Amino acid sequence: MDKIKIGHHNYAVLLNAKSLEYEGDIARGLCLPETKEILVSEKITNEGMQKEILMHEIVHGIFHEASVEQNEEHVERISKVMHGFLQDNINALSKMYSNK
Ligand SMILES: [Zn+2]
Repeated sequence: MDKIKIGHHNYAVLLNAKSLEYEGDIARGLCLPETKEILVSEKITNEGMQKEILMHEIVHGIFHEASVEQNEEHVERISKVMHGFLQDNINALSKMYSNK
């Protein structure tokens, strides 16, 4: 299972999670700070959509680890920009941030 580190914590990432529910609704993804898990529903088969939802849940994790109040609209807006930002800059960032 892949791990993503947010703040000081490793979050386990599961991209084919079964029957995700949140407050009685079917969820496409979940960030669970208590158990340090990020889940994306197995129902999301489109790779681009999977990444967008993953980034959305990562931003929830970032808000949590930064002790910033969760706001769904802010999380959604930031995650959309982050998704495009990573797609456009992943190679340059990987070079800049890799341990040499
Ligand atoms: Zn959300």
